[in-house]
This record gives sequence, C-alpha cells and structure tokens, in this order.
Amino acid sequence: MVKMPFKTESKRLLEMMIHSIYSNREIFLRELISNASDAIDKLYYKALSDENLSFDQGNYYIKVKVDKQSRILAVLDTGIGMTRDELENNLGVIAESGSLAFKNANEAKAGHDIIGQFGVGFYSAFMVADTVTVVSRALGSDTAYKWASSGVDGYTIEPTDKDSVGTLITLKLKESTEDDNYDEFLDEYRLRSIIKKYSDFIRYPIKLDVTTRVPKEGSEGEYESVVEEQTVNSMVPIWRKNKNELTDEDYQNFYAEKHYGFDQPLQHIHISVDGAVRYNAILYIPEKTPFDYYTKEYEKGLELYSNGVLIMSKSPDLLPDYYSFVKGMVDSEDLSLNISREMLQQDRQLQLIAKNIRSKITSQLERMQKDERDKYESFYKAFGTQLKYGVYSDFGSNKDVLQDLLMFYSSTEKKLVTLNEYVARMPEEQKYIYYATGESVERIDKLPQTEMVADKGYEILYFTEDVDEFAIKMLMTYQDKEFRSISSGDLGLAPDEADEQTEQVAKDNEALLKEMKGILGGKVKDVRVSKRLKNYPVCLTADGEITIEMEKVLNSLPNSQNVQAEKVLEINVNHKVFEAVKSAFDHDSEKLSLYTHLLYNQALLIEGLPLQDPVDFTNDICKIMV
Ligand code: ADP
Ligand code: MG
Repeated sequence: MVKMPFKTESKRLLEMMIHSIYSNREIFLRELISNASDAIDKLYYKALSDENLSFDQGNYYIKVKVDKQSRILAVLDTGIGMTRDELENNLGVIAESGSLAFKNANEAKAGHDIIGQFGVGFYSAFMVADTVTVVSRALGSDTAYKWASSGVDGYTIEPTDKDSVGTLITLKLKESTEDDNYDEFLDEYRLRSIIKKYSDFIRYPIKLDVTTRVPKEGSEGEYESVVEEQTVNSMVPIWRKNKNELTDEDYQNFYAEKHYGFDQPLQHIHISVDGAVRYNAILYIPEKTPFDYYTKEYEKGLELYSNGVLIMSKSPDLLPDYYSFVKGMVDSEDLSLNISREMLQQDRQLQLIAKNIRSKITSQLERMQKDERDKYESFYKAFGTQLKYGVYSDFGSNKDVLQDLLMFYSSTEKKLVTLNEYVARMPEEQKYIYYATGESVERIDKLPQTEMVADKGYEILYFTEDVDEFAIKMLMTYQDKEFRSISSGDLGLAPDEADEQTEQVAKDNEALLKEMKGILGGKVKDVRVSKRLKNYPVCLTADGEITIEMEKVLNSLPNSQNVQAEKVLEINVNHKVFEAVKSAFDHDSEKLSLYTHLLYNQALLIEGLPLQDPVDFTNDICKIMV
C-alpha cells in the first residue's frame, strides 16, 4: 500500500496544529464529537430534500468507547459517512472543510447548525494519539474505506468492511510520560465530564459505556463489574426552549447544574434575539454577593457557546464591569470564531450582543425596582455598591444608564428611595438635592449639620458608603437639580429673620471670631457664626470641592497624599456655650484658648475625624473640671 503525503504545506501545518493552536488538549474530543454531529446533521438535511430518505431521530447517535488495555479511544457516529474521495480530500488536505462546502451548497436549507468550517479540528486528535484510524462508509455506498495516519508522514487509504453507514474514528493514545498524562482520556468519568463540559447540547445522544460495580447476585458481599451504556449529554439546550414551557424551577436547576453560584438566583433573564444579530441567552442575577466579589480575584464573564458548543467558559467582553455580578450563558450561531474555535476573530458580533445584553439587564432591573421593590432592595443590598462604582468609573460615561438604579436612605421616608422619587416630591422652593455623609444612618441622624435642612422639612439622602459622594460628584445633577452636602457653606436656603439676627451677631463679634481662628492656627480656614445649628454648640463644615467625608476616604487609601478639606468651625451663637466664650474673650485670654481648642476637638469627634492630640484634649477637659 502506498503512503500518500499530506497535500499543501501540510507537514508544517500539522506540526503547528498539534503543538500550538489549542491551549487545552481535552478539546480534541469536542472536535471529534462536533464532526460526528455535523455528519448526522448532513443526513438530516439530505432527508429534507430527498423523499427516498427518511430521518428517524431515534436511529442516530454518537458513541464514545474506550479499551484501556490497548489504549484505544474510539468515536463512532451514524452520520453521512465519507467516500474514498472525501476521505482523501477532507482528511488528506489540512484546512479543507467538507462541512463548510456543504453549508455553502445548502445555504437555502438553513444548514447553519453545522459546526465545522475550518477543516482543522479533526487533526487535534494528534495532540493525544500516535495513530488515528478512520473507517467510514458513505451514504449510498456498499464499500467502506479505512484512512490511517501516524501524523506528519502522511496517510494510507484502503478498502475495508463496515456493516452500516457512518464513521468510526479510533485513536491509539500516546503513552503517558512524567509531564504528560494521556491515561486520563481512558477514564470514563473524565471523558464524561469533558463531554458534559463542551458537548452537553449536541442534538444527538452521545453514548458512553460506564462500568459500575454492583453486588453479585446470590453471593453475599461479592461484587461484579457491569458495563452500562449511558447517554451523557442533555441534548436540548434549555435556552432554545420556549419561555412558556419553562418553569422557575427549570431555571433554578440550570443555575445549580452549571455551578453559576451556590445561592439561588434572585432573577433570571431569558433572551432570544433574532434580528441583526441572533443569539439566545439565559442570565441570572444572583441572590448573594460572592465572597470574593469585591476583590481582584473575582472574574466576571458569561459562558459563550457557538451553536451549542462551548467556546469560552468566561467571556469577559459580554458584560460591563458595573454588571459584573451577572452569571449565565450566551449561544450564538453568528460568531466569527478563530481557527482554534477558542476565541473570536473579530468582535463586532460580540459587541452587538454585549450591547444588547446590557440594555436587557438594565430594563430588567428597572422593572424590578418598579414592580418588585423588596426583591430589588435585596439585589441592591448585594450589588448596589457595584452600580455606584459604575457611575463613578470611566469618567462617568455610564452615569445615564445607572443613575435611575441608585437608591439612598431617606431622612423623611426612613427607607431607600430613588433619585426620581426624591425630586418628584421636592417642594417648589427647594433648590438642591440634600445629602449627608456618615458611617451609618444612626450616626448621620445625630449630625448637627442636618438640623437646619431637616427643620425646613426637606428630605436628606444619607450617604453611608465611601463611594457614595464620589459617585454623586460624578453625576453633578439629577434632572437639573444640583446635589448639595448639608455640610457645605451655601445651603441655598431662603434667608429668614433669624438669619438676619445671626448676621448681626457675626458683625458684633468679628474680633472674637478672628481671635479664635488665630488660636487654632492653620487647623481651620475660618471660624464662623452658624446659620444651620439649632441645639448643638459647634460643627465642622468645608468650603470648596473636597468635603470632610471625602478627605476621610481619600486619606484612607494607600499612598494617600494627605488631602485636606478646607475646614470651617461653625459656632451656634444661640447656645449657652457662646456666652461663656464671649466672656472669656473679654476677661481671660487663656480661657478663650482652652475653650476654642475644646470646641474644635469636639467638632472633630462629632465628624468622626481623629483628634490630632488626644492627650491635650483630655488635659483640657480636666482643666475645666477642677
Ligand atoms: P471542519 O469540521 O472545520 O470542517 P475538520 O478538520 O474537523 O474540519 O474536519 C474536516 C472535514 O472532514 C469535515 O468538514 C468533514 O467533511 C469531514 N469529516 C470529519 N469527521 C467526519 C465524520 N465523523 N463524518 C463525516 N465527515 C467527517
Ligand atoms: Mg470539525
């Protein structure tokens, strides 16, 4: 028998195939099974147009067999088979795809389920096998042919016998070495999991002989091995089913089966798009924050399938960072895959899908916020912080998408509210959207600065997370209303009688205030008479863009530049303490210095800022006690 060399530049090509195209050896099985599925598909498409042919789904299957002793792994199919010429052309010429040709010839009959296109997948078998043998009998032919090759040297073809139409591919696996284990491909459980991983949704049954040990009948305590044929794949992908046929439980089961999370999904989103780009997707919003979610270790991404065959376990490009919590899968027949079918060739299709997915998630969240507030709140508890980061990052370029999804605790409603709800109930004369920052709701409730705004009956949003104020600074306005911290200099409140009085007091005490500022040295930018305090003696506010809360956050970051807010000490002139200060100013400069430091330090404590010198502070308190 004459050995035929491979055509084309194929020696080099085959070397390359075996050594560098695939990052993951186990995919050879995906390739062989995909070819087998294509071969059955071709029979099916032929039967559509040929009335002499019938296609009885029940007769078609793929079978994976192992023989550990002789290190043989075989894949058999009942598909269309190959003629001698086809063996020669499709397997003898690398990068020749019979499947692509078939697709092109049968375009009108929607042969788009066929997976093959590059004419290289078959050769991945040489990554794990020394010798590959293909015995095939084509539809309508009585003779079968055997193609055999041990790699780069070439191949042989000779007539042989085969009972039925179809193809049997036999791999003689390589011997394992210290570095490379090939024995794993003889292990039924390993094979089963590879088939599950990549080929679970192949439309035809993939059968595997699984050996189990069962108690031997009649003899107590003894076992015997029984070989049992199992169908490994689920076949019908749930994402191709009609939504109406599926129950919540079906979606929950899929979530668990796919190990998307250990929790229950809070919400599923089933998408079938058949437009400029075609795809199916099942997405989930998990119930709980994954333990590593806010760490660098967390990897976002969706499973990506091309025609039911897994291409990537985590395709990061399908999700924006602000929706990185979403789990699930996308299947599309329109992807332009690269030759290894592990990556995409150009990402226009993927970008379209990603954009589409993004807007589906957004509208689903908006719907949930509107119709299922409790559910939305539990989602928001788990992932709201990520949305706020989303507003803040990328220079705010996503703020329009995200601003309506934000919620903050409200001083008047005593629960989370949206910005839209806030603005809708703003009294006409209210100029700004007010917010207060602090560690917790309880803490903010006690902030002296909130008194004035709250007294006017205005609603205040409580910012309890570090990111809140930064996100809001990025938003700048919501429905043309500016945000204003209750600690900022100008609260935009209409002046009343009391304000006029305060201004008069300020004028009368100009010298005192100046003296106090001097005593505090550079610690504050100014000491002022407060218009916002009612019951508290003092508070700290900030002039300029950097608020006191931002100073805290920025300085807690690694490599912080010691950012300083321009702090202002405000005094409540209607508080009894002010009388004491005035009298000290008139009679006892040492006392004034003591009081000024005490008041400043108290203001720091209320703000939750560290005292510069706690020992001085306690000494000062002792001084006034004795
Ligand atoms: P592709 O699947 O991308 O076309 P492959 O290298 O995987 O490339 O296969 C090359 C060609 O060999 C296929 O297009 C098909 O025509 C043929 N072929 C491979 N395996 C089979 C099979 N089991 N039955 C019938 N034809 C097959
Ligand atoms: Mg193929």
